[in-house]
Amino acid sequence: MQYIDNIIFLILLVAGFGLFAKSLQKIYRNIRLGREINRNDRKAERWETMARVAMGQSKMVKRPVAGILHLFVYVGFIIINIELIEIIVDGLFGTHRFLATILGHGFYNAFTATLEILALLVVIGVVVFFIRRNFYGVKRLTMKELFGWPKQDANWILIIEFALMVAFFTMNTSDWVLQQKGLLPEHGSFPISSTILAPIFNNFGDSFLFFTEKAAWWFHFVGILFFMNYLYYSKHLHIILAFPSTWYANLEKKGKFNNLESVTKEIKLMMDPNADPYAAPAEGETEAPSKFGAEDVFDLNQVQLLNAYSCTECGRCTAVCPANITGKKLSPRLILMKTRDRLEEVGKNIDKNGKFVDDGKKLLNDYITKEELWACTTCNACTEACPVLLDPLSIIFEMRRFLVMEQSAAPQELNLMMTNVENNAAPWQYNQADRLNWAND
Ligand code: SF4
Ligand code: SF4
Repeated sequence: MQYIDNIIFLILLVAGFGLFAKSLQKIYRNIRLGREINRNDRKAERWETMARVAMGQSKMVKRPVAGILHLFVYVGFIIINIELIEIIVDGLFGTHRFLATILGHGFYNAFTATLEILALLVVIGVVVFFIRRNFYGVKRLTMKELFGWPKQDANWILIIEFALMVAFFTMNTSDWVLQQKGLLPEHGSFPISSTILAPIFNNFGDSFLFFTEKAAWWFHFVGILFFMNYLYYSKHLHIILAFPSTWYANLEKKGKFNNLESVTKEIKLMMDPNADPYAAPAEGETEAPSKFGAEDVFDLNQVQLLNAYSCTECGRCTAVCPANITGKKLSPRLILMKTRDRLEEVGKNIDKNGKFVDDGKKLLNDYITKEELWACTTCNACTEACPVLLDPLSIIFEMRRFLVMEQSAAPQELNLMMTNVENNAAPWQYNQADRLNWAND
């Protein structure tokens, strides 16, 4: 019987990690459908940014209550899962609380007590988040764009985390009561289980306690595997992808746009009367891109696609977006959500056909409309607000660039302004020679 348990455990473990690896591989493949971008510069600054923003959650605590609760859930959940090491060894070799033999009595007691306190903080965090999301009416969490799967997803993840913590406490309490009865070796210290839950469990019979301990242990293990594999379908991918996203974040000053080298070169040629327009490109000079801007996910760069997978759907960007606040049809959160949806659609197309087969759809128009794109004021409030340094504005900007440079489809007001710049070197519709007329009188 013992061996059957170990074999089932091994099969579940391999299947769980195997499926997870496959999902990660798919995400990696999809991200690589984007254009390459060199963000391997300023390495020290990138490590520091990742440590501060992703690990230290520095931008989360700008809203202290949500930030601290998020820290509880994040730190607690990650550290509690260190216990997975013990679960794996116990499950494979049929041991019981294997780490106690490695860490020694005192250290193991401190370890298990810390886990219990963290688990309690996680429970408090997820309960408050659930109430806040469903009953408190925070505008950015109850907007129409979250109806359906995004809202269900957010709730499911809180329910799963709650269930995992309940299983953790159930396992510890049964274990502790059995230890007190001398039916299991004394390992660990359980400040929450032994005080709050033990009075209830003391009423249970021995065989039921053994059953509860085992059942909770299996539930906890299978739950962790399930949670891990659920991530691929969830906004909670950010618990992994926030790290590369912050590492590859745009470190330039906000508002600095990426001029196209080929366009800059054209303008320089126009302004230099001695330039040879047919000269071969100098060494290191890049050719003009085959397409200006972005019409579909293939035209976005890999960091922008990584951003789409990393979005936590928290809506902090949308809450500060002046276009959204004034009732325009633009939500920076939705720009990333739609980019991810389109990327997933392209990925499924590749899975089915072996390579991408034109499906007659594009990110532009089928997912993101021109109305949304032109509503943006390019103020950068969204990028400033994002707790994981995502950049929805850069996607908007690339799609606008496509509309202007490939389709000449800028709004009338912009076309007029650009014609004026071209003819008069100013946005106004009067001759350069008349510029100082205002001073005549
Ligand atoms: S840059 Fe555009 S999308 Fe971002 S907050 Fe400003 S108006 Fe909204
Ligand atoms: S882009 Fe950033 S701020 Fe906006 S919803 Fe996603 S994670 Fe939140």
